[in-house]
Amino acid sequence: MAIILDGKKASKDLKEEVRLSLDQYYKKGAPKCNLAIIMVGDNPASEIYVRNKAKACEAIGIGGQLIKLSEKITQEELEKYIIAVSKDPKVHGVMVQLPLPPHLDADRATELVPPEKDVDGFTTANLGKLIIGNQGFLSCTPGGIIYLLKNHKIVLAGKNVVIVGRSKIVGKPLALALLNENCTVTVCHSKTKNLASITSKADILIVAVGKPNFITSDMVKYCAVVVDVGINRTPEGIVGDVDFANVERQASFITPVPGGVGPMTVAYLMKNTLHAYEISLKGKYN
Ligand code: NDP
Repeated sequence: MAIILDGKKASKDLKEEVRLSLDQYYKKGAPKCNLAIIMVGDNPASEIYVRNKAKACEAIGIGGQLIKLSEKITQEELEKYIIAVSKDPKVHGVMVQLPLPPHLDADRATELVPPEKDVDGFTTANLGKLIIGNQGFLSCTPGGIIYLLKNHKIVLAGKNVVIVGRSKIVGKPLALALLNENCTVTVCHSKTKNLASITSKADILIVAVGKPNFITSDMVKYCAVVVDVGINRTPEGIVGDVDFANVERQASFITPVPGGVGPMTVAYLMKNTLHAYEISLKGKYN
C-alpha cells in the first residue's frame, strides 16, 4: 500500500513558514501584507476556491481583498479594474480567479497584472523567468506539488517524470520547474500515442487531465510516486483523475483527492504573496 502524500499537513507546514516570516516583518513595524483577488461572476467552484484563499490569508496575517465583478462586465472594464487594483501600493499581490466567463479573454486579463505582483505566475514575464531558472513567481499548483514532494523527502534529481496534461496553469510550468529540479521530464497530452507505454515508465507520474479514473493501475510502474491534480465533481463527490483504490496498491506514494494537491495550491499562493510583499519591501524585483 502506498504512503499518502498528505497535502493537508504539508500545506500547514508551508503556511506556518509564511506566517512566521510575516510575523518577523510585522514585529519590525512593516505594513500589512495584502492580496487582492479579482473574481468575475459567481461560478460556484470559484466561490469555494476564493473562500479557501481568503480563509488562508486571514489565518496567517495577510489582508485579503476580494473584488467581485459582474458576470456581464466587458473586457475593457475588467482591464481597467485590474490596472487600478495593481497600482495600489498597499496591495502586494494581485490575482484574477479563473475561469472567466467565456466572453472574456483570460490571457489578456492576467497579463495586465504587473510581474512583481503576479502571485499566480501567469504573466509571460514570470513564465519566461521560469525558462531561465525559477527566479520569478512559479504558478501555485506546480509550486505546491514540488513542495509536497520535497516535504515527503522524495528526491527529484535524476527521476523520470511523466506529466499528463499541458495546460498553461499546471502541465507546462510544472514541466519547466521540474527540469530546473534536474528531473527528466516527458509531457503527454490528448494527441500522445501509446500513453500507457509512457506513463508506465514514470518514476513520478503527475496527472492533470480532468477525467475521473483516467489513470488505471496498468498505466503505473510498480513503486511509482503518483500525484493526482484532477478535481472532478461526480454524484459520489469530488474525485481525481487516478483510479485511487487500485493505483494505491501499485504506487509507493500517492496523493488523495481531496486533501492532496488542492490545499498545496492555496498554501503556495500564500508563499507567493509573501514573495510579492518582500519584493515591495526591498523595492526590487529580480
Ligand atoms: P485543461 O483542461 O486546461 O488541460 C487538460 C489537459 O489534459 C490538456 O493538456 C489535454 O490535452 C489533456 N488531455 C485531455 N484528454 C487527454 C487524453 N485522453 N490523454 C492525454 N491527455 C489528455 O485542465 P487543467 O490543467 O486546468 O486542469 C486539469 C485538472 O486539474 C482539472 O480536473 C482541474 O480541475 C484540476 N486542477 C486542480 C488544481 C488543484 O489545485 N488541485 C489546480 C488546477 C487544476 P490537450 O492539450 O491536447 O487538449
